[in-house]
Amino acid sequence: MDFNLTTSKPSDSEHVKVLIIGSGPAGLSAALYAARAEMDPVVLTGMELGGQVSLTYTVENYPGFPEGVGGTQLVELFQKQAERFGARVEFDTATEIDFSQRPFRVHTYNGEYLADTVIISTGATPIHLNVPGETELTGRGVSYCATCDGWFFKDKDVVVVGGGDSALEEGIFLTRFAKSVTIVHRRNALRAGAILQKRAMENPKIKFIWNTIITEVKGDEAVRAVHLKNVATDEENDFPTDGVFIFIGHNPNTQLFENQLELDERGYLVTDHLMNTNIPGVFAGGEAADPNFRQVITSAGMGAAAAMQAIHFLQEHSETKEESTVRA
Ligand SMILES: Cc1cc2nc3c(=O)[nH]c(=O)nc-3n(C[C@H](O)[C@H](O)[C@H](O)COP(=O)(O)OP(=O)(O)OC[C@H]3O[C@@H](n4cnc5c(N)ncnc54)[C@H](O)[C@@H]3O)c2cc1C
Repeated sequence: MDFNLTTSKPSDSEHVKVLIIGSGPAGLSAALYAARAEMDPVVLTGMELGGQVSLTYTVENYPGFPEGVGGTQLVELFQKQAERFGARVEFDTATEIDFSQRPFRVHTYNGEYLADTVIISTGATPIHLNVPGETELTGRGVSYCATCDGWFFKDKDVVVVGGGDSALEEGIFLTRFAKSVTIVHRRNALRAGAILQKRAMENPKIKFIWNTIITEVKGDEAVRAVHLKNVATDEENDFPTDGVFIFIGHNPNTQLFENQLELDERGYLVTDHLMNTNIPGVFAGGEAADPNFRQVITSAGMGAAAAMQAIHFLQEHSETKEESTVRA
């Protein structure tokens, strides 16, 4: 591995000090920190400018907005703030990477970057049911996050989809707010751990519907019902509900980094507590490296931390370079 900073660049490549892959809360927070350190970061937006939070109407758990803030508005503010200090946001997607030597090489749809440091903030994608009404009613009763949206369902009836640990954990959490929580599971047994199963079964607010899938989410301005199909009997019916919480897993957006960076068994990037990946100079933050917290604030925090580390790394390596020039 070559740690020297270089300013040379092939004519068709752009050399940057900090390249940030992903424009969600982690990427834009990293951009703010790197820009304020005068590192002129470039942010590649990917297909979803602003990331997952831009899909939600209202965010009520990001500090500084006592009345809540629109998801799109929040990330627009993140972007504006980073741009004010010189970050450049490019509507482009990383398609190929080569982290085998520095500067790191990142191909995109529009060209190629040579980057002294890379911050990966490509996030994760909640797995969808892919049924009619799901996308249209996301943020209007369809949710993938109990911590984010549970509060909106005070004294309401909600459905939870899934049978694993997160479905049960989030279902139990939702009983703090909801009048009833009905867990719809496609099999007749849960995958979740025994203790969680016991807690859920003993909770008077939780009921189960077994062997059943949701084939449609119904509603107009808000969710009104889900259409259910029993996979054992083929019986179908509408089940009235105010909300649908889908917990059937998340896919980290890290396929691009397979074979070059260490991933855990679920595909999340492995970092240490300083956001270092296994390659010095490549940092990661946000949901791409976080199977646990999945929040705007935690992702933003990790993005900021990754940028601070990238700044540190660049300073250290430019000092090393300057020292060796003086000695020479
Ligand atoms: C519907 C919904 C509502 C939510 N509500 C809340 C809430 O109220 N409060 C809360 O705290 N959290 C909420 N969350 C969770 C929150 O949105 C996430 O925790 C947060 O967005 C994660 O930020 P991130 O930057 O790590 O990744 P993401 O937001 O997932 O952003 C990933 C970014 O990477 C980009 N990308 C991916 N691949 C590439 C590539 N190859 N090249 C370039 N770019 C790429 C994408 O385009 C995107 O810009 C919600 C999530 C959803 C889905």
